[in-house]
Amino acid sequence: MAYDQKNIFAKILRGQIPCETVYEDDYVLAFEDINPQAPVHVLIIPKGPYENMTEFSTKATSEEKAAFIGAIGVVVKLKEIDESGYRTIVNNGDDSMQEVPHLHIHVLGGRRLGGLLSSSV
Ligand code: AMP
Repeated sequence: MAYDQKNIFAKILRGQIPCETVYEDDYVLAFEDINPQAPVHVLIIPKGPYENMTEFSTKATSEEKAAFIGAIGVVVKLKEIDESGYRTIVNNGDDSMQEVPHLHIHVLGGRRLGGLLSSSV
């Protein structure tokens, strides 16, 4: 399926809607989730048009991949959850209930996060 240029994170990247930036470089943008599920809830997105991790892991350049992973370490230090612990989540496609079709890593922390998966379906 073709990348949807109208998705909300594409609009954030184009500056058409605002976000609360946590970190930015040539390849990635990290910003506060609008509906935080923990005291720290940051989203990290690549600036390139990748719908999900499958697209990114098979098509992104080495520089894009390094920046995307590297941004996790930067963000958790900026948010001071590197020592207390945190969780990274990437939803991909229907079964994961991915809502926004632009790859994003959720970085969650600041409290005990509970079990890995919700028991509800
Ligand atoms: P997912 O279900 O993995 O696709 O997660 C999408 C996430 O994007 C959710 O946690 C939303 O709260 C978040 N979100 C949606 N719109 C915005 C926005 N305009 N700014 C920041 N976060 C957003």
